[in-house]
Amino acid sequence: MKTTRRDFIRTSGAGALGATLVPALVGSQAPGVSGGDVYDVAVVGAGVFGAWIAYCLGQKGRRVALLDAYGPGNARASSGGQTRVIRMGYGDQEIYTRWSMHSLELWKSLFGPLGRPSLFQEAGVLWMARGEDPLTTKTLVTLQRLGVVHERLSRAELERRWPQIDFGPNTWAIYEPDSGFLVGFHAVQAVVQLAETTGVEYLQEAVVPPGGKGRLGSVVTRSGKTVRAGTFVFACGPWLPKVFPDLLGERIFPTRQEVFYFGPAPGDTRFRSPAMPVWVDFAEEIYGLPDFKGRGFKVAPDRHGPAFDPDTGTRVITPETLATVRNFVARRFPGLKDAPLVSSEVCQYENTSNGDFLIDRHPERDNVWLVGGGSGHGFKHGPAVGEYVAARILEGGKLENRFSLATKEKAQKRAVY
Ligand SMILES: Cc1cc2nc3c(=O)[nH]c(=O)nc-3n(C[C@H](O)[C@H](O)[C@H](O)COP(=O)(O)OP(=O)(O)OC[C@H]3O[C@@H](n4cnc5c(N)ncnc54)[C@H](O)[C@@H]3O)c2cc1C
Repeated sequence: MKTTRRDFIRTSGAGALGATLVPALVGSQAPGVSGGDVYDVAVVGAGVFGAWIAYCLGQKGRRVALLDAYGPGNARASSGGQTRVIRMGYGDQEIYTRWSMHSLELWKSLFGPLGRPSLFQEAGVLWMARGEDPLTTKTLVTLQRLGVVHERLSRAELERRWPQIDFGPNTWAIYEPDSGFLVGFHAVQAVVQLAETTGVEYLQEAVVPPGGKGRLGSVVTRSGKTVRAGTFVFACGPWLPKVFPDLLGERIFPTRQEVFYFGPAPGDTRFRSPAMPVWVDFAEEIYGLPDFKGRGFKVAPDRHGPAFDPDTGTRVITPETLATVRNFVARRFPGLKDAPLVSSEVCQYENTSNGDFLIDRHPERDNVWLVGGGSGHGFKHGPAVGEYVAARILEGGKLENRFSLATKEKAQKRAVY
């Protein structure tokens, strides 16, 4: 379905459980705006969330503009990293396990037809645990209940399978053989590429934060373009506090996160897939990925870093974090004790107070959606977020309370990992 003079898009009423039918501003004249394109939906931000939302809307025949200031999966975006883990384990946070299971199917069904199945690497995910570790124990229960293929491995079994890992105080682990990692920004760009085949128009434009209240008719870009649409989705990741400073300035916390890549010795395959899975050492708040395509063995602290500006922040690692990470690598992966650092990234998490996503309507603008708060774990869920947001915009329906703006506190207390 393309533009018509009066196009109706079904959305849910603000805060209501039931759906209401509201007209989209398609073809109508927004006051004070002349010229410019008219879309059913304008999605601002082509990170993993915005890309999937645009794609899902495009698949439904909607006329969609997808705008990004720097480009899909750019180096400043949270989706801009080389690789992103996809795992099913989420403690007892069942919704994320379900979304991850569904998302993995959708990622694979997208990469296959594109002829790029290697954008998902089924390397397996190893979640190490110590003693009674409540999160891992709850994960085990959830994976069993939802039928996720997994193994509970004893210390002896771990040592037998992965002799290149010194498990230290870890006494057991959960292994998800069907999980692995996605090839970060390439995967985002693939989604945008596919979205364009459905008619989505990608525009490399920086949107000026919209002021005022009430229904939004258009946005303007820094280059002076006016983009008019019936519905707007702001999927601006760590930029959301800048775009909506009053609403989100104290509710989304962008933090500086450092990522390190160490180079194994020449010919040493112990730190690549299939010898090495993705791993998480939860007690030490650190995780990593196997050396992929010779880019290095990835190691990244998961603990939240200091506040960070996604536009201007310096993306150079600190000697302090490097020393901490080296110390860990020497203990857990002795074969990499003296491995050189071959690459690094500085990215930012866009945390909500507890790690739950933000997916809600703007409280004062009923045709504006706020989508973000990936909080260091959102990438894998791009497909499920895309489907969910597209369905809420097109069909209405109940909004998940835990994603609501009302549940986003001003103080951080992480509960979702
Ligand atoms: C180091 C690191 C490791 C991570 N590891 C994992 C992992 O292993 N697994 C996992 O599932 N998740 C992981 N995450 C989290 C995940 O990457 C993020 O939650 C997810 O990428 C967020 O996507 P997004 O689309 O919300 O934001 P972004 O990717 O940041 O996209 C937002 C986009 O909006 C654009 N934009 C902003 N403002 C404007 C404007 N005014 N006009 C136009 N465009 C604008 C930006 O240019 C940007 O491209 C990790 C994150 C980091 C930083």
